Amino acid sequence: MSLMQSLKHRISLDGPLSLADYISECLLHPKYGYYTTSTPIGAAGDFITAPEISQMFGELIGLALVQSWLDQGSPSAFVLAELGPGRGTLMADLLRATRAVPGFHDAMELALVEASPSMREQQARALQDYRPHWLPSVEDLPQKPLFLIANEFFDALPIRQFQRAGDGWCERRIGMDPDSGALTLGLAAAAPQPALAHREGDTRDGDLVELCEVASVITEAIAQRIADYRGAALLIDYGDWRSLGDTLQALRAHRPTDPLTAPGEADLTAHVDFETLANAARASGCAHSRLTTQGVFLERLGITDRARALAAHLDGEALNQHIAAHRRLTHPDEMGTLFKVLGLFPARCSPPAGLEK
Ligand code: SAH
Repeated sequence: MSLMQSLKHRISLDGPLSLADYISECLLHPKYGYYTTSTPIGAAGDFITAPEISQMFGELIGLALVQSWLDQGSPSAFVLAELGPGRGTLMADLLRATRAVPGFHDAMELALVEASPSMREQQARALQDYRPHWLPSVEDLPQKPLFLIANEFFDALPIRQFQRAGDGWCERRIGMDPDSGALTLGLAAAAPQPALAHREGDTRDGDLVELCEVASVITEAIAQRIADYRGAALLIDYGDWRSLGDTLQALRAHRPTDPLTAPGEADLTAHVDFETLANAARASGCAHSRLTTQGVFLERLGITDRARALAAHLDGEALNQHIAAHRRLTHPDEMGTLFKVLGLFPARCSPPAGLEK
């Protein structure tokens, strides 16, 4: 049975699915899920991420986390963690860039959270020199200071969508067209939705908003560790403080496609509402930085100096590619403003480097 058939079977038995259930099945179904079966990231995959564009990205993240570690008195046993490490490139660059920092690697325990077995294999290969271990979930993070990076992780988490209807909200659900048998989007009856109380002031009848419940749960767990044991987290993704409208996007071979036509064969993502993450951090007694654009963050960390230093060893096509990569990571027309960074840190400490203002 294909994933499409299995979804239709489920809808015929139980009725329409929430978007969150549909996204979970498409991305992480144990047999047919997108992350379970494909090699999504890179030029040959469906999309490319910042660490795959240039080594500078992981290097600078590494220096920012090391600076927080030093500022907090170099805790002697801590966890360095990554959520959704993809091919392991960011972590490998981060670890190479921090090798010379006295004591950092000796004090570190490397923990990864990754849902896809095939991604775990790639990470094991990329990071074989550093003895990583994989945690089933963020709830399993050890009770120690935590220095954490998550890049393009939260955008892969399942969202639900709701359309405003007076004082209530109609959830968008996925059903089946009785004539063609195709998957279609429909609206459930209006119902109160306490989790969307904060959106009553900035929406009107017919407006669509998104809710990512699991993002709050994950951020609360990270923030709890940081509040209790110290540390810092850098949460990087595309999105904004809060979004309005449908941001669900399906990508296949670097092109947008219909999210409903080929379940399990395209990457599905949605913009991240950073307000949700910030509220969850505060609820756990942790401070958060201002939401900062990726371009500003990387410039403050010195990407231009690093780019110049690397350029000195390059020429021809390699130099052109390096210049294009610098631009792609930082320029407002590319990833520079669409991508944002939120830092989490203990209330009595200063924010991570690059997120001070
Ligand atoms: N951070 C990497 C990869 C981003 S793609 C980079 O920047 O290149 C998203 C990653 O999150 C993939 O590794 C994917 O398998 C993983 N992932 C997606 N949903 C997940 C979940 N619910 N739990 C754990 N990992 C997940």
